[in-house]
Parts: sequence; structure tokens; C-alpha cells
Amino acid sequence: MDKPSLSPYVDSVGELLRGISDKIWDYAETAFEEYRSAALLKDTLARQGFEVEDKTGGIDTAFCASYGRGKPVIGILAEYDALSGLSQKALALTEEPRGGAGDNGNGHGCGHNLFGAGSLGAALAVKEYLAANKIPGTVKLFGCPGEEGGSGKAFMAREGVFAGLDAAFAWHPMAVNGIMEVKLLANYQILYKFRGKAAHAAAAPHLGRSALDAVELMNVGVNFLREHVIPEARIHYAITNTGGFSPNVVQSRGEVLYLIRSPRLPQAEEIYRRVNKIAQGAALMTETELDIEFIKACADIIPNKTLARVLYDNFKTQELPLYTGEEQAFAAALAKTSPKPPGAEAAMFLVDAEKDRAEYTKRLGDKSICDLLLPFYDEAREPVFPGSSDVGDVSWNVPTAQIVTACYALGTAEHSWQLVSQTRSSLGHKGLILAAKVIAGACVDLLEQPGLAEKARAELEQRLEGQPYRSAIPPEVKPRPIGKL
Ligand SMILES: [Zn+2]
Repeated sequence: MDKPSLSPYVDSVGELLRGISDKIWDYAETAFEEYRSAALLKDTLARQGFEVEDKTGGIDTAFCASYGRGKPVIGILAEYDALSGLSQKALALTEEPRGGAGDNGNGHGCGHNLFGAGSLGAALAVKEYLAANKIPGTVKLFGCPGEEGGSGKAFMAREGVFAGLDAAFAWHPMAVNGIMEVKLLANYQILYKFRGKAAHAAAAPHLGRSALDAVELMNVGVNFLREHVIPEARIHYAITNTGGFSPNVVQSRGEVLYLIRSPRLPQAEEIYRRVNKIAQGAALMTETELDIEFIKACADIIPNKTLARVLYDNFKTQELPLYTGEEQAFAAALAKTSPKPPGAEAAMFLVDAEKDRAEYTKRLGDKSICDLLLPFYDEAREPVFPGSSDVGDVSWNVPTAQIVTACYALGTAEHSWQLVSQTRSSLGHKGLILAAKVIAGACVDLLEQPGLAEKARAELEQRLEGQPYRSAIPPEVKPRPIGKL
């Protein structure tokens, strides 16, 4: 098998990959509860001759499937978790929950069903190449659970799971085709639990101490803090326990979940320490007890131009998917329900290329599905994108690069019902096949050209400037299903 045979091979297993993606969409399992989704991927890999390690990093729904021997050792990341509250019928043009017995209220609003199946496709193709050519090299598919709200990879990185890799590749479903050369925000997620004293709110309010008051005072304090943190920081909260629905009771329990983000991990850590002080102040004011529970943290992303270039060179050799009239009409109808301005995706990806940004904004603005590849610049700075990903913790340990492929209509908002509607459609399927082909090609370049992995490692070391990777998650903290905090 030679390199040009990789893409026809991926096409030959297309039906298998599409079927797996659709099944994971149907399962719609949320963070750290992806038992059926992980089992489906593991079983497929074991049947294809991979050695499958279960519960990698001590997480029930994580795994690592390896094939081959010796260096380079190339990691491919796979995700498969869904989002709560996003149950939605596939191929629908209006918001409508799936309904029926299989509806667990969740939905694949980030397309991780495609992510998992696409990465599987790449790993299978690299395995075929290794087996046919009998050359040294190892491919490892990492089953990474709980990306949404759980940062599964950060827990895996804390356990040293990614330490032996020479390179790591990942991808993400998106509305465009391109290289994901962005920096993302580091974050901390913490649960603040207040405990007061219940009492009759009218007959004996003086005997009660309200945990709900503490939650409210804490939030007021943090809202004043906003003015005094770096402007790039983001602080969000959700009140996860209001102490019940009886206003005639002084609420003895109150909980609020905080998500603190900033470009670098130490900045998030500093804000986290200040938010702790506000929580302590709220407890002092209300004479309640406070318990601070660390949920998770994840690092910012260290991009790698060397590997990004390898991905881009492979992307350019691919024929981009063609779309039928029916697919175009579906995408155009969905785009009408979206609040994003036409061509917005180009502005997001081409931050540092003013001329191209205007041109591509116009070109994409005229389309409902992206059928072109956005340009890549070796010299461009990497913009900070206001989101987070636990790929960050991988990228501190091993040179890492990512692509995005068009899996849904331009203008689709992330984590929306419109996105769920499209991640079990031919649009999503075409994107996952394309991602598998590009990543497989990049892996084979690393196998054929040993200097590439060394160059990528040198770039990582230069970017880190001697800073060692330090997991921000304390050793005693275990990953937990987000719905069961
Ligand atoms: Zn995602």
C-alpha cells in the first residue's frame, strides 16, 4: 500500500464509519458516561487488529488502541460525548426533540460522533499502511471522553497518558475546511457549596441562615470583580442548587458552578483564587459554611506550525466533497434560522490576513456549504479563540495540530439544535471522511520522513521556553459526570 492508496481505503470503509458515527449520535451519551459509544469504537478497533487498553488514565470510558511497533509513535485523538438538553431530530428544519424511547434529552451539538468516527477512519488507514509496508512506527487512537464540561484529556494528561508520543493529531467538525491554528482559553471549573440553617421564613427567619443568600452575594461579588480582571478573561456561572422551590423556607443548601477562562493557565489560576476569596466573604456575611470543590481545569493550546503545515499539505491534495442540490437546499434553509452573519467563519479563521479575510468572507457569504479550503500561513500569529478545549493539555506534552472540516451549513451556531440536526446527515458524513483522509496522510508523512517529528518537537520546546507541563488538577480530584455534581 502506498500513500495515494490511503484515501481510496478510507472510502472503502466509509459505510462502517458512517454507521458508527450515526450510532454514537443515537446513543448521545454525555461526559464520562459514554459507555456504549466507547465500546462501539473499542470493539471495532479490536476486530481490526489493534491492541486495546481499557480505562486509560483510570477513566472508565477512556481507552487507547495501538497498532505497530517502534517510532515514531503517532497519536490520533477521538471524542464521542454529547451535550445535555440538546435532543433534536436529525435532518429537521425546526427545533424538535427526538422523542420516543431512545430520547435521553441529550444531543450531539458539537458533532463529537463525527469526531470519533473520523479519527477511527484515520487510524484504520494508517494501520493498513503499517501492515502493508512492514516499517517501524506506531499509531495510537486515544478514546478521549468527557470533553464537554469534563476535560477528560486533562485528566489523562495528568496521568502521563500522552507522554510517550512523537506527535498528536485531532480534528473538529466545523462549517469550514481549514487548519485549526488558534489558541484557546485555559479554564478552571469549581463548584461552590454553601450550607446554612433551614427555618420557617416567616415565623422564625432569625433562626435561619440562607445558603441561597450566600450564592447570590457571591455572584454579586464576582460581577464586581469582572472590571478588575484582564479583559480576555471570561467568568461564567450556573446556579446548580437553589435550595428547593419553597419561598417560605430559609434555604439551607445552595450551590453555584463557576467556569473561569483566560488565555494562559496561571491567569485563570489567579482569578480562581480571587473568586475563592469572594465565596469566603459571602459565607462570612451569611454565616454559612462553604465547601470549595475542584471539578476540573484545562490548559491553553500550544499550536505547532510544523505539524499544521503537514496537515495543510495533505489537505491540499484532497478532492473536496461535492454537494447535491438537496444538500444545498437543506443547508440554505437551516442557515436562514441562524443568527451568524454570512461569511463569519472566514473572519474567525483568517484573523491575521486582512486581504484574504475580506475575499473569503465574500466567497463564503455567497454559499450555504463551504466547498473550499481556507488558506494557511506559516508566519501568521495564532488568534485566541474565545472557547476552550482539553486538547490544550495534550499540546503541552506532545506536538499537536488539528484541522476542521465542513460538516454543517455555514452560519450554524455551535451547541445548537441546528447543529444536532446536521451531525446525522450526509453533510456530516462527508466531513468525517475528509478528516480521516487528511489525518491519515499526515501520519504517513511522519512515518516516511523521520525529520518531521523531530522538527515538530523542537518547535514545541522553543514555544514552551523551558516551562514544564504541570496539570492544574489536584491529584485527588477524579473526573465525574457533569450531570451528577
Ligand atoms: Zn467540540
